[in-house]
Amino acid sequence: MKPVYLLGLLVAALFAAPAQGASQKLPGVFLFGRDYVRAEDWARAGGGTLRWTVPRQEFQITLPSGTFKFTVDSRRAVLRGTEVWLSAPVALRNGSAHIGHIDLVTVLNPLTSPPRNLANRPVRHIVLDPGHGGRDPGKMSGGRQEKHYVLLLAKEVGELLGKAGFKVSYTRTTDTTLELPERAAIARRRGADLLVSLHFNSAAGPGASAIQGAETYCMTPARASSSNAGGEGAGAGAFQGNRFDAKNFLLAYQIQTSITCRTTSDDRGVNRARFQVLREAEMPAALVEAAFMTSPADARRIYDGALRRQLAQSIVDGIVAYKRIVDRK
Ligand SMILES: [Zn+2]
Repeated sequence: MKPVYLLGLLVAALFAAPAQGASQKLPGVFLFGRDYVRAEDWARAGGGTLRWTVPRQEFQITLPSGTFKFTVDSRRAVLRGTEVWLSAPVALRNGSAHIGHIDLVTVLNPLTSPPRNLANRPVRHIVLDPGHGGRDPGKMSGGRQEKHYVLLLAKEVGELLGKAGFKVSYTRTTDTTLELPERAAIARRRGADLLVSLHFNSAAGPGASAIQGAETYCMTPARASSSNAGGEGAGAGAFQGNRFDAKNFLLAYQIQTSITCRTTSDDRGVNRARFQVLREAEMPAALVEAAFMTSPADARRIYDGALRRQLAQSIVDGIVAYKRIVDRK
């Protein structure tokens, strides 16, 4: 539902309450061209509390399911310990913090009232998509090419997923050129339940070697702007991949949380992008930039077999955590 203007006055609209399956309605306000709700109302609806940690700047909401930290005028939030990019900056209005309705629907609700699969459609078949290949080497660092290492990582992730009981397929298993539209199409043809694209990152310029960490991307919600450097704008509408906004986020969040909890990788957060593979996915999908080839600290995780296997295991654990949530009884 959208708030309505009446004779130039803001009229509160009612939004579905976000948390804990509560059925209360939350009053909304229209700020900066977007629907917002009072953060305190959302906290209360979920049986939690809001506390300012830095007056008028930073606050945290504690719910039975964990602590959610926000910063005024910022799209960065730390949700149960994991960095997340919101679609709308948190706003301060009349002394009260407000959170974008779009973020209740696409970020916070999926964590506090997670989506659930139909009992007859559990997560079973995962398509892994090692980025690049063939003519496209991907990122390069010191003569090493991303395409080779993401293929190694994908095979390790696949082997571990197989041991965990999943059916696994790949968009490529050799060093072959694969056009971008093919990747989501392969996942669709195989009838995959999830599509996980695997990449390694690189940085350039002064200080590049200090840039490190893992980041996981999911599809940008309709009419929001992406968080990646390309930063496609807020003008974009809904794509195929937006059908799964809640599950996309939950999948990316679980993978990102698992990588940063189970390895010593820095947390660069759950990010948003309209990458073609995410835009066109006809099942929940995430894209993992697992480490920086240009960071000495991260490079070990890419080139050292034992450390790369640990990274693979953390990605698998994230997928397993996602499955447990969406396939719960
Ligand atoms: Zn890549």
